[in-house]
Amino acid sequence: MADVERMYIDGEWTLAEGGATFDVVNPADRTVVARVTNGAVPDVQRAVRAAHRAFTDWSVLAPKDRGRFLLGIQELMEERRDELARLVTLENGKPFEEAKKEVQFSLGYFGWFAEEARRMTGEWIPSPQPGKRYWVLRQPVGPVAAVTPWNFPATMVTRKIAPALAAGCTVVLKPASATPLTALAIAKIAEDTGLPRGVFNVLTTNRSGLVGAELLTHPLIRKIGFTGSTDVGKGIMEAAARQIKRLSFELGGNAPFIVFEDADFKAALDGAVAMKFLRVAGQSCICANRIYVQRSIADRFVPAFVDAVKGLKVASGFEPAAQIGPLINEETRAKVHALVEDAVTRGARLVTGGHYLTGERYATGFFYAPAVLLDVTDDMPIAQEEIFGPAAPILVFDTEEEVIRRANATKFGLAAYFYTRDMTRLVRVAERLEYGLVGANDAAGYTHEIPFGGFKESGLGREGGHEGIEEYTEVKSVVVNLG
Ligand code: NAD
Repeated sequence: MADVERMYIDGEWTLAEGGATFDVVNPADRTVVARVTNGAVPDVQRAVRAAHRAFTDWSVLAPKDRGRFLLGIQELMEERRDELARLVTLENGKPFEEAKKEVQFSLGYFGWFAEEARRMTGEWIPSPQPGKRYWVLRQPVGPVAAVTPWNFPATMVTRKIAPALAAGCTVVLKPASATPLTALAIAKIAEDTGLPRGVFNVLTTNRSGLVGAELLTHPLIRKIGFTGSTDVGKGIMEAAARQIKRLSFELGGNAPFIVFEDADFKAALDGAVAMKFLRVAGQSCICANRIYVQRSIADRFVPAFVDAVKGLKVASGFEPAAQIGPLINEETRAKVHALVEDAVTRGARLVTGGHYLTGERYATGFFYAPAVLLDVTDDMPIAQEEIFGPAAPILVFDTEEEVIRRANATKFGLAAYFYTRDMTRLVRVAERLEYGLVGANDAAGYTHEIPFGGFKESGLGREGGHEGIEEYTEVKSVVVNLG
């Protein structure tokens, strides 16, 4: 194990005031992967002041020139893709092949927003009065605090910092304490491309309270970009209200996955398995959380789904052909297991998996046997809460009207999926699902070019698309009196 990993503040790799550290643990075997410096109050202040200072020059740089830095970061990330993916697997646990895909996808945000920076145009509004002109422009909002979760250690970082930097903002990023190494490696890449000091700072700490009390409420921070759980988001929103701080939130989900009787059977089956189990072992905000199958095909679909799940390979992320890695920590594994056990006590039938994996190759990691539960009802906690793990509750429905009502009956509204070959139904259902992302015969998620974000308690604002960069700007109207 190397020395203490330092954080990146004001263009320097520094140790935290007081010298405290925290450990990053490999969830596949609980070994300590790295010891990371544990930021304290003075470090937060240093990082915020650095971002504030750097804002003066960065915000007025020509968008094309800011874009050049972003393209440089994209290129270096691509060169170091496998190195970054190795870190992702080490600290997050996901299979190495999946980690490579994540890193490849994550770096695309720099390319997309480098181009979008050049399209941040304004408007010249015709005046109702003679002698006046109105001009509307967008300006960078100011220094940003970005807080990210552990499930996509690369994408969650780039999806925020790329648009922020492109818009002309500077950033203090607080990555999840479980996965700070990927974020630090991205900071090293930013440094190597010559990004001016203070423009992008990474503050590592495992003191969540301090982040809320010092970073997110710091008067020099003008905007918070937060991805994480809805409950933590609510607390941040309450605190932010005191300063009317600008907010973008990407929060929790409870995605319905609907299989209509006229679906392309194989596509729906593959989509359901992939969207439930093959994204970070089900620990993704857009993972299928409730699988609704139309009664007329349940007899065929359910056994095929169970067979497919039984064939999934659960293994440490570096094992060849691994499909499902460990869960991030014991707390997450215990929560998934509690939801499965609770569903069984309420009458659900567990037909495969649903237990801790033991034995030599699993002994020290947080592995869980992929579970399928039948006879689940909408009122069970497993159908109401975000499972965030490899457990699939199956629910049966009869009509389109009914399934839309049931799918929408949740406080969340992030992602939903449905499969049908009836094109009029496709349009109807897509329009009626109350979700920010709807996969119609598709379970591949989103891409850089489209806005991504949640309805209801799943979030505020959008990341990606044209909207992603607007989140980091303020609109200004200039009234020109020509006298
Ligand atoms: P979390 O809310 O526990 O933590 C997210 C981040 O917030 C971490 O960096 C954490 O250290 C920090 N944090 C925790 N408490 C805080 C506090 N009181 N003040 C300030 N910061 C605090 O979430 P998690 O367990 O890391 O991630 C899982 C959650 O994230 C799930 O609910 C998932 O749905 C959600 N998520 C949403 C999206 C999306 O795009 N909508 C993407 C990924 C994850």
